[in-house]
Amino acid sequence: MKTCSVCGAPKKLTGNHKWLSGGTIVEKNNPSHRMIFVENDNILEVFKLIQEILGLSLEKVVIESQRKATYDYVNSILPAVIRKIVRFTSYRPVVRNLTMLGKTYGLGDVSLLDMHIKGGEGDYVKLGIRNPFFLPAFCGMVAGAMEVVTGHDCSVSYQEKSPGYYEVTTFVSTHPKEFVERLHWREYGNKPGDAVLDECPGCGGPSILADYDFDIEAGTISRRASGRRMVIDGPAEFEAILDELERELGEDISQILIEAQRRFVKMGFYDTDEVQDVGTFRDHLALRGFGNLKEISFAGGRLSVHLENPCLHLLLVGLVLGFFELVFKREGRVDWELADGGDLRVEVE
Ligand SMILES: [Zn+2]
Repeated sequence: MKTCSVCGAPKKLTGNHKWLSGGTIVEKNNPSHRMIFVENDNILEVFKLIQEILGLSLEKVVIESQRKATYDYVNSILPAVIRKIVRFTSYRPVVRNLTMLGKTYGLGDVSLLDMHIKGGEGDYVKLGIRNPFFLPAFCGMVAGAMEVVTGHDCSVSYQEKSPGYYEVTTFVSTHPKEFVERLHWREYGNKPGDAVLDECPGCGGPSILADYDFDIEAGTISRRASGRRMVIDGPAEFEAILDELERELGEDISQILIEAQRRFVKMGFYDTDEVQDVGTFRDHLALRGFGNLKEISFAGGRLSVHLENPCLHLLLVGLVLGFFELVFKREGRVDWELADGGDLRVEVE
């Protein structure tokens, strides 16, 4: 795997993605698919807190909705012709490519252990993963991708073989997939803006990626200053998980999500220096693909934030609330609005 000699980022990563002026990250060959570059613990902890607040395990919902989301996504980008050709040739290079991509994106140290694909019952793929970014989501991804490749419904199971090391097996469980599930994918705004990040002269990616360590062998990315693990993922998949959760539980989980993120931020995970100055905060949000910070102001005891092209907006609402409480050391009351053009306005007082 080649890395950039200037910033050290894998060329596959900066070559496959574009950081746009609107504060978004998109895939170069599929610009409607947004990505985020996010602190892994934020995702893990928020799910953990939601589980605590609700008092139930979300593992099944996460696996299931990630499976559907991955199926839907891979199915839409992989032309049917290629899928048919692959079925008659060899799956091995495809699977190897995907495991390498997973390592580049910080999903963990993924390896192919065993596979048998003949296009029917009895087909399976067994992967090993050390240090998975989020095990249930990884299981869902594996099963969803397998469904596209085999054209059959697939199940997935995992086993912890040693601390932090898992074997994940996906296998054809039933008949051919008869209907194609279409999830409701959130439409995100993509207005151009002023969140322009300095470009690395070596690879064209954001030059601040030089502040991160990319350990491709270990499948991890970390921010050097804090040691925090990062991961590249799609926000729409997470929104789909959250939508699914709402359907399963039959209740509005937005308050729960905001609350979970508020608690998380208040644990002191993020450095409040990141929000003290508008330019730095804007760059941090843009590098992560969360949108373009138009305005942040504090007057009369009220904090107002205006963000264009947000994604995972409930996490952003919780983030602003948490920061307010950390910086001003008192409880805040939050109001937020997602306008028609996709703009997010958050006010805390
Ligand atoms: Zn570079």
